[in-house]
Amino acid sequence: MTANKNNVPEFSELSLFDISPALSSFLPEDFCTSNHIALLDDPSAKDAQNIRIGVLDRKDQDLIAKAQEIIGKKVEPVQLNAYEISKALSQIYNIEADSSAGTNLQLNSSSEIDFSKDRKPNLILQDILSIALQRRASDIHIENYNEDVDMRLRIDGTLHQVTTSLSPSNIQRVIACLKIVCDLDHLERRKSQDGRFSALYDDEGNSRKVDFRVSIVPGNHGQEAVIRVLDSKRFILDINELGMPSNILNSYKRLVNYPNGLILTTGPTSSGKTSTLYATVQSLVNRGLKIMTAEDPVEYEMDKVNQKSIDEFMDFSDYIRSFLRQNPDIILVGEIRDAETAEIAIKASTTGHLVLSSLHTRSAIGTVSRLRNLEIPDDYISDNLLGSIGQRLIRRICEECKEEQTQTDEMLSLFYDKKENVQHYHGKGCESCNGLGYKGMIGIYELFFPNEEISTAISNGTSVAELNNMAKDQGFVPLVDNALDKAHEGVTSLEEISLRIGPKFPHAN
Ligand SMILES: [Zn+2]
Repeated sequence: MTANKNNVPEFSELSLFDISPALSSFLPEDFCTSNHIALLDDPSAKDAQNIRIGVLDRKDQDLIAKAQEIIGKKVEPVQLNAYEISKALSQIYNIEADSSAGTNLQLNSSSEIDFSKDRKPNLILQDILSIALQRRASDIHIENYNEDVDMRLRIDGTLHQVTTSLSPSNIQRVIACLKIVCDLDHLERRKSQDGRFSALYDDEGNSRKVDFRVSIVPGNHGQEAVIRVLDSKRFILDINELGMPSNILNSYKRLVNYPNGLILTTGPTSSGKTSTLYATVQSLVNRGLKIMTAEDPVEYEMDKVNQKSIDEFMDFSDYIRSFLRQNPDIILVGEIRDAETAEIAIKASTTGHLVLSSLHTRSAIGTVSRLRNLEIPDDYISDNLLGSIGQRLIRRICEECKEEQTQTDEMLSLFYDKKENVQHYHGKGCESCNGLGYKGMIGIYELFFPNEEISTAISNGTSVAELNNMAKDQGFVPLVDNALDKAHEGVTSLEEISLRIGPKFPHAN
């Protein structure tokens, strides 16, 4: 196991401070928002001595001196993350967190898109964001080519080209506009910049705040942008509605009732892991337990859950270490990416905490080999791994144009080792699904939870291939078989399973 990292920044929790608009008169709002600093104590209180201020970097002496000068009392810097500082500022100055500029953007579910050539850049940006929300896109890609600008939306996991009024003559002004709403340096065109903003979205009369995360990079033909849509409506927050088959759901609910241990969700990017973790936390929230999360970033704010976004000052392992001093019952770690995080997460799970996290592996049983690669000893894995969920999101066949489908022998051979008399379906494409044949997505799951025999096998160093066979003997149903059930029910197609999960028999029978 690797040595512990020293110099963990002292960390504090926003909820420990009494933050109110009464603090707004001691430090100017402009000063606070531009320097990411928030006043945490009331300098006019009778016993006020060391006035605590929240900062991103406690070593920024110039900034701390400036704040001290304005307040006129000795200040003590407290390390907070960017998310907490914007949250504090929103409470003190009554402003929208993350970006005050962003909420000027009003997006609408019914707005018609205007393709006129001389449309202003800020309106083009509004058009782009509105189309993305209307079509339930998860991200927006704007790319520059020699004499052309491409805009594509990722909808249900697949990129689709969209027509807009973007052109080589206005694209750079639209990107400058995007940088302004993110509070980025719009004159800087040679370096990559990341930012975020929020907007109000009027969805058929119901208004809600939607967050966007932006990445701008210089390209051969000018700057390019990727905008991630963090629409809280896209998260399923009820564990019963994730689409797990009832046997998996029941076993999973039993696992998350353990007071300590490690539960992992696995799968590639955009496989719904965050939804599973949020729904799990939500199912535990009303039990009088202290729940702390470290996320990259916080995508959906949950009541009664203490959530932190990782940043350049505090990564996942720093947060888990800090959490352990605050005596939580449940810790959610967005992702285990490195040996250090794996080690501290396992350590937390051995000392009376239920730890939920995600890992990038192809399968639920693959968590064992991944944890081994992250230098976790076999007996630690067998003692603490309660279970792991493997998952994918796959597209649903459009109900409006669904029809029976005769499959080729080649496709059938990928999924069946003998001729089986089962019906398959596909969508032939209609207006309702924009000709795609699919509409919406569904989660496909597998659940691996080691029983005593498998635990012993893990601690003895048994290979993952062998563990796989043992688990199957004891009723483990792999992802691909759960997906095939959905194909037989007419929910999805064999093509879709082959694309997102892969064949059951990759080598010719
Ligand atoms: Zn259709």
